[in-house]
Amino acid sequence: MKKIDAHAHIGSFGGWANLRINADELIEQMDKYEIEKTVLCSTDEKTNTDTLGAFKKYGGRFIPLVYLNPYDGEHAVEMLYEYVREHGFAGIKLNPLKQAYVADTVMLDPIMSAAEELEIPVFIHSGHPPYSLPWSIALLAERFPGVKVVMIHMGHGHGVYIDAALKMARRYDNIYLEMSGMPMSSKIKEAYDTVGADRIMFGTDAPFHHPTVEIQKVLTSGVSEHALEDIFYNNAARLMGIV
Ligand SMILES: [Zn+2]
Repeated sequence: MKKIDAHAHIGSFGGWANLRINADELIEQMDKYEIEKTVLCSTDEKTNTDTLGAFKKYGGRFIPLVYLNPYDGEHAVEMLYEYVREHGFAGIKLNPLKQAYVADTVMLDPIMSAAEELEIPVFIHSGHPPYSLPWSIALLAERFPGVKVVMIHMGHGHGVYIDAALKMARRYDNIYLEMSGMPMSSKIKEAYDTVGADRIMFGTDAPFHHPTVEIQKVLTSGVSEHALEDIFYNNAARLMGIV
């Protein structure tokens, strides 16, 4: 079954993660597991040129996101316009945990307003206290109902956070969910049935998780064949304006 990976990285994650993957290796992995396209970001706001290089080399295989740090202020907004308008980037990546800000901070408002103007989605890492919990991401989504907010990892490893991700997505229809790193396959079906058939997407968070593991989570979730097509491909395609 053809797939779009709604969340993956290239680059080197040092420290505790001790992981790395480059664009060539990611393409090889995508080919092996029938991943037609990948929504791609780098490791932080200093390495967007890596994503740009991969996008230039592999064209339509990657849907590039610009990684932003709200502490950069005006510079972050300038970088956003440059990457979207000059290089064709299709969305924004934020990680409140990595850069130590709470997801609902007003510091993000200039970036969110620009996202609204540019009509691009904002992908936000979720699942780690105190910065990236589902409730805080929901408060941000509530302030910007015109911006599509993708809650990456849909709460991540903690059952209470996963439940909160679903609850918040049911409350705000501009919240979308991506399931990489989230261990409960049953929650994928629950999201499909109760959040919305068009708001739950497959992802790998490469290089953090292996495609075979993430694919199995969707396949064992108990959803129908038609739902598999939505989760693996249609929903990300629609969100990113591919169809
Ligand atoms: Zn990630």
